[in-house]
Amino acid sequence: MNGRAGVLGWLSSSEDEREAARSTIVRIVHQEADALVAAFYEVFLGDTQSAQFLSHNVVQDRLRHSLRKWLLALVEFDPLADIEAFERRQIEIGEVHARLNIPNNLVMEGTTLIKTKVADKIATAGNHSPSAFHAIILFNEVVDYAIRLMSTAYMSGANRRTKTEEAFRIFSLGQDINLERETQRAALMEWSHSVLLSMLGNESEPSHNSFAASPFGLWIRHRAAVLFQGSPLLDKIQHLIREVDTEILPNISSSQPASLVMFQRRIDEIKFLLNDLFKLAAGVENGRDPLTQTLNRRFLPTVLGREISLSKKAGTPLSVLMVDLDHFKTVNDRFGHPAGDAVLSQTAETILNNVRATDFVFRYGGEEFLIVLVETAESQAHALAERIRTELTKTPISVAETESIKVTASIGVAAYEGHPDYEYLINAADAALYAAKQNGRDCVVVAGDESGTSALSASGQR
Ligand code: GH3
Ligand code: MG
Ligand code: MG
Repeated sequence: MNGRAGVLGWLSSSEDEREAARSTIVRIVHQEADALVAAFYEVFLGDTQSAQFLSHNVVQDRLRHSLRKWLLALVEFDPLADIEAFERRQIEIGEVHARLNIPNNLVMEGTTLIKTKVADKIATAGNHSPSAFHAIILFNEVVDYAIRLMSTAYMSGANRRTKTEEAFRIFSLGQDINLERETQRAALMEWSHSVLLSMLGNESEPSHNSFAASPFGLWIRHRAAVLFQGSPLLDKIQHLIREVDTEILPNISSSQPASLVMFQRRIDEIKFLLNDLFKLAAGVENGRDPLTQTLNRRFLPTVLGREISLSKKAGTPLSVLMVDLDHFKTVNDRFGHPAGDAVLSQTAETILNNVRATDFVFRYGGEEFLIVLVETAESQAHALAERIRTELTKTPISVAETESIKVTASIGVAAYEGHPDYEYLINAADAALYAAKQNGRDCVVVAGDESGTSALSASGQR
């Protein structure tokens, strides 16, 4: 980063101006330090997630202390002295913020507040004189510069962490997931049996520990939290565990059959949820949609971003197809949802059979597929779209014991034309698909040709 460009105001001021500004800033900031720190933290306390984190007294005291120190060091800023040391310090702070997961937007909000308050005080104290405004400009400049350095460091720290977390999750998923499921099922059963058995014994104190402290409870909190990050099923299981610990266990007794039934019901519920959790993970494991075996849409930004930059660098063509089944709703309506599912999985198979192993097929929506064709020019993409469309019309899909149907699809084709935002490419394919639908369906339209589309010019059988 070119530090000098970040503080041009300081550098273009005369020494007298700088000194005058600095002494004003030092005086005001020292005088207002407590109020400024408090205002900054108001922002954080207003944010629920950060408030939780800050509720820890040690954290709060230390951060308040660091902020005060940072502010007081900032006002001593001298661009002609050691600007590198100043930069290093801001970068370090950004890295610490990334490590502690302190939201960058809140830091910016807090410092904006500080800037406003300081400006107000300087202006009033200096009777709105030109030199007061000069001091305000210089103070804003150095704060902005510090925040810019901090944000850059914060972003690279946060990116690194995201990557590591994702890698760890994938690594964890790569472990034997079936074995893990069986082990945890067994752990759950073992603990619930131990509770029931302790009912039979005549011990006054139950021999079991709390659900949360059982091996299964530990696994849910520590390992499942990594494996199934953010899954709502996990939240439900944790909720049930808490319920068992706080409401059921304290009242469970063999003389109250109802309490045993309640207990068993919660355990069964957890068993089901655990099953679903692992079923979902099987799909996530290889990033594929379980029904169609096509790629999960959440990988689209990564794949398209990468392919676009490869195409740019190497000058190779790149195209996408947007495929949408025609009148698919009527398949569901007439033959039921399972038949619709069969059609989807068969359609995906037809598509996968017709693309190369290096192409990417995503499930883009319910009955919509997005195909990324690497090193493929528009004309080749058009030809492939035609092939897929024809194959679909030729492939009967059985939807009931004795009944089979054929489905058709409309396809939009778009070739990459240099726009760095991949959404642009997707939108182009989408617009072409829309034109194909307008054109009567079961046909292919190439982006850019929409206006010329008619029953004659769109390729397809009409
Ligand atoms: P159009 O030719 O204009 O595309 O009509 P359409 O009926 O195909 O389009 P529409 O978007 O109206 O309907 C899509 C239907 O796809 C609605 C939804 O119920 C169904 N669908 C989405 N996902 C699934 C799924 O996973 N399984 C099944 N069976 N149906 C699905
Ligand atoms: Mg459709
Ligand atoms: Mg659709």
